[in-house]
Amino acid sequence: MSSELTLYNSLSREKEVFKPLNEGKVGLYVCGPTVYSDVHLGNCRTFVSFDVIYRYLMHLGYQVRYVRNITDVGHLEGDRDDDQAEDKISKKARLEALEPMEIAQKYANGFHEMMRVFNTLEPSIEPRATGHIPEQIEMVQAIIDNGFGYEVNGSVYFDTLKFAEEKEVYGNLSGRKLDELLAESRDNLKNQSEKRHPADFAIWMKAAPTHLMRWRSPWSEGFPGWHLECSAMSTKYLGETFDIHGGGNDLKFPHHENEIAQNVGSCNHSGARYWLHTNMLLMNGKKMSKSDGNSITPTQLFTGDSEHISKGYSPMVVKFFMLQSHYRSTLDLTDEALAAAEKGYRRLMEANQTLQEMTFTGTEDAGELDRELHAGIDRVYAEMDDDFNTPKALAALFELVTKVNSFKGGQLTMEGLTESTFRRLQETFRVFIGNIFALQDELAGGDSNGQTEVLDGVMSMVLELRAQARANKDWGTADKIRDTLQALNIVVKDGKDGSTWSVG
Ligand code: AMP
Ligand code: ZN
Repeated sequence: MSSELTLYNSLSREKEVFKPLNEGKVGLYVCGPTVYSDVHLGNCRTFVSFDVIYRYLMHLGYQVRYVRNITDVGHLEGDRDDDQAEDKISKKARLEALEPMEIAQKYANGFHEMMRVFNTLEPSIEPRATGHIPEQIEMVQAIIDNGFGYEVNGSVYFDTLKFAEEKEVYGNLSGRKLDELLAESRDNLKNQSEKRHPADFAIWMKAAPTHLMRWRSPWSEGFPGWHLECSAMSTKYLGETFDIHGGGNDLKFPHHENEIAQNVGSCNHSGARYWLHTNMLLMNGKKMSKSDGNSITPTQLFTGDSEHISKGYSPMVVKFFMLQSHYRSTLDLTDEALAAAEKGYRRLMEANQTLQEMTFTGTEDAGELDRELHAGIDRVYAEMDDDFNTPKALAALFELVTKVNSFKGGQLTMEGLTESTFRRLQETFRVFIGNIFALQDELAGGDSNGQTEVLDGVMSMVLELRAQARANKDWGTADKIRDTLQALNIVVKDGKDGSTWSVG
């Protein structure tokens, strides 16, 4: 059914055919959120992208172990690693007068809720950094034993210069090379720094007396460096070599480059074979950033409570909007683009509903139409196989939407279309919309706890009463029903075969 899956490997900077380490299985690791504040839309973009990748891999028949961590210790303010910087979670705990673990729990809960709102799947394993301190201590020890780590006053640093001189892998991902490291002299270091070289980074940090989160280790009572958790947890759950590692491209350096250094430095294997990086979310052409006011929260986006948008956009419209750009391209959030996405989303959902309810009226023999539809469906798959190109796959799906709508409108008959191809068309829409892009049908008025059925039932009764009123020329009642529905944002369309409704 499917052509070969190719993906763009940030490590080789080329598109490569994807070959998993173990036939039929995929190990996927994605850097999860640091849970010290509400999840922002940029994070959502990255996690929605990897959810579609996860779902598509499963659709291709792979058994996927998807590991996405929660960073709840070690990530310091400004991504620093000196003892002047405060832990992001500890700082929030101090400001809100809560336990650090209360902060982590609170924002992890919020993150999970948002992931549900965007209809993403939970990962197979969601390990927390604080739950893997022994594994991280072991890794630090292995790095020291291999000669790539040194201890100063209870903190342990990774000896980047020595590593870069001995191992060719350093700099492959980020493009930073040994020459650049050598050019950075020790003078760049602040006088009091314990590091031998500016590119060295902490893998274990001695906790200051006031530091809240601390664990005993052979070197000091302290906490692990930020990059270490991902090396330790990916190795533990996916092995010393595994298939895919993902994250936003802001993490390429230093986080991912240092992850590779730690993996090689501890066990002489470099971890992931394919690195996938999502691009950043912009707003009105500029990087979304809280500090200069160019930002919007997911909730503001849903409610419309922001100066940047003219109205609210539902979670599925926002998700559709995200899928309309490739994960490696920047995504520019604008009011116009969201309004266009809303139209596109509705058109797709309506066409799907029409298609699933459509009666097959084709022929036994395959004709031109049959071949055309097969080719159209193959194109959807080919685009997804080409580095998960969701915008092009959607465009291919929309070409099929045009066909569906012309069957419905009567401009096109099903002459030359076989039943098996028609069923394949239905299946493709069902699978891509429901399982891969995982767009819920908000037009049907909700989907939980049987509410859809209840609402459908009530609505068909209301529409029947309206039809009766119109038949009786009782315009007063008919208009009242229409106006009330309009006030509830329910749009009624009158067609040849009766009236249909949707939430406007
Ligand atoms: P953080 O919570 O900052 O550690 O980030 C969690 C994930 O979201 C990482 O994979 C980041 O690379 C990604 N991320 C952060 N900011 C953005 C953004 N503006 N656009 C897309 N992804 C982002
Ligand atoms: Zn990470």
